[in-house]
Amino acid sequence: MEPILKTENLWKVYRTGKMDVPALRGVSISILPGEFVSIMGPSGCGKSTLLHVIGGLAQATSGRVLLDGNDLTTMNDAARTLLRRHKVGFVFQRFNLLPTLDTYHNIVLAQHIHGNGFDPHRFEAVANLLGLSERLHHKPSELSGGEQQRVALARAIISEPKIVLADEPTGNLDTKSSATVLALLRQLNKDLGQTIVMITHNPDAATYGDRVLHMRDGLVVDGSAAQS
Ligand code: ADP
Repeated sequence: MEPILKTENLWKVYRTGKMDVPALRGVSISILPGEFVSIMGPSGCGKSTLLHVIGGLAQATSGRVLLDGNDLTTMNDAARTLLRRHKVGFVFQRFNLLPTLDTYHNIVLAQHIHGNGFDPHRFEAVANLLGLSERLHHKPSELSGGEQQRVALARAIISEPKIVLADEPTGNLDTKSSATVLALLRQLNKDLGQTIVMITHNPDAATYGDRVLHMRDGLVVDGSAAQS
């Protein structure tokens, strides 16, 4: 099977004044369609940087990123943005919902931005799956943290992205809501075949996936199967 995402000797160096900070120092990973992969490692080891570069939010310094066969590293910003919008769904620790919009509009806005038109069947299926059908007219401030993250999940998957990239999706949630969100991620993966890459520093959260990549000092040092 062809990987949906592949990196080859990926480097990202932040240039901050006099200092160069090498956040990624030659990362080569391969993610197959339908995999749920967790990325673990100490703070500052490059997890978020890796997620941003593979998702097209940031440009690599050198190396290659192949997303669904497209090389992100040879694209200009506009082409990379377009590809990202069509192929990647993001979930962030702080939910990043628009505060003035209700659940319904936070989710469908993603579709409108992408110019895919609106598919009411897909919307209904996603809202049901994520238990949001009774919360469609609530604004983020009227929702619990767990509910807000479920809205963010719905927004991420509504356009059927090739890959979902989640950066500490349970980092702002209590234990119960975390378990719900992780179980939903696993369900999206198992039932819909959604490919997911998730950063976490919680070993329990990492067991929800099939495989864990361990990072240290800008490198992937181990890519064993998850223990569950
Ligand atoms: P993690 O997600 O594992 O905590 P990051 O990818 O956020 O790690 O950071 C990796 C390294 O890159 C750290 O040393 C961090 O300080 C540095 N870094 C991250 N973002 C920037 C930035 N925008 N400018 C300069 N240095 C950065």
